[in-house]
Amino acid sequence: MAAELERADKLRRNMSADIAHELRTPLSVVRGKLEGVLDGVYPATPKHLQPVLEATEVLTYLVEDLRLLAQAEAGQLNTEKRLMDVGDLLQDTQVNFEAQASDQGVTLALDLPTGLPKVKGDWHRITQVLGNLITNALRHTPGGGRVTLSATTVDGRVKVSVADTGTGISSEDLPYVFDRFWRGEKSRSRAGGGTGLGLAIAKQLVEIHGGTIGAESTRSKGSEFWFTLPAVLDS
Ligand code: ADP
Repeated sequence: MAAELERADKLRRNMSADIAHELRTPLSVVRGKLEGVLDGVYPATPKHLQPVLEATEVLTYLVEDLRLLAQAEAGQLNTEKRLMDVGDLLQDTQVNFEAQASDQGVTLALDLPTGLPKVKGDWHRITQVLGNLITNALRHTPGGGRVTLSATTVDGRVKVSVADTGTGISSEDLPYVFDRFWRGEKSRSRAGGGTGLGLAIAKQLVEIHGGTIGAESTRSKGSEFWFTLPAVLDS
């Protein structure tokens, strides 16, 4: 517990340094390209302006994600909690991601039991969590692989899981995946992927619903990311 608190405290103290680090790359792209164009080194063509636009997109996502994370951590996020059917949620999500999965040659399967109890939650926020887990699963699963969405009831909770047959995560890295700005592939370009805040946000969103989130993974075999939500048993 003390070690966990110390780690949380260290993460908080590192936050400004992490943000400064994340801002540096897109800002230097914007500055470098614009200076080049103004000095006449580069022509103002799409080839040289496109990276400027992409860098500003990265900055926009970063600011939006940081705002969401800060609001969630401060308990200031507005949520509209209603009775929700997790089966409906998973079915909708499967439909939404089907095209992306099949473009990648990945099978997106759904495994739903009957008689799943309802949960109380904000549909939009839980969809966001699930979307993040599926986006990650698809990003790390090569063609020919499989991503399976499923739900079960465990000890009065509904457990939702996104399992993939992708790259997996090493046991040294696994404890850090929910940390802010933690990325497995350090060299992965910020433009090519997410902000490194996706799982930190997912954790906050699940926790404000009274749930828990976790992951199991085996390198080269695949990962399973899951979250639980308290079931509403008399629904
Ligand atoms: P981002 O995807 O923006 O890098 P996330 O917080 O969503 O940030 O994920 C953090 C890291 O966890 C990723 O960079 C990746 O290394 C690892 N990760 C997340 N999901 C998976 C997965 N399904 N398979 C393998 N690695 C994953």
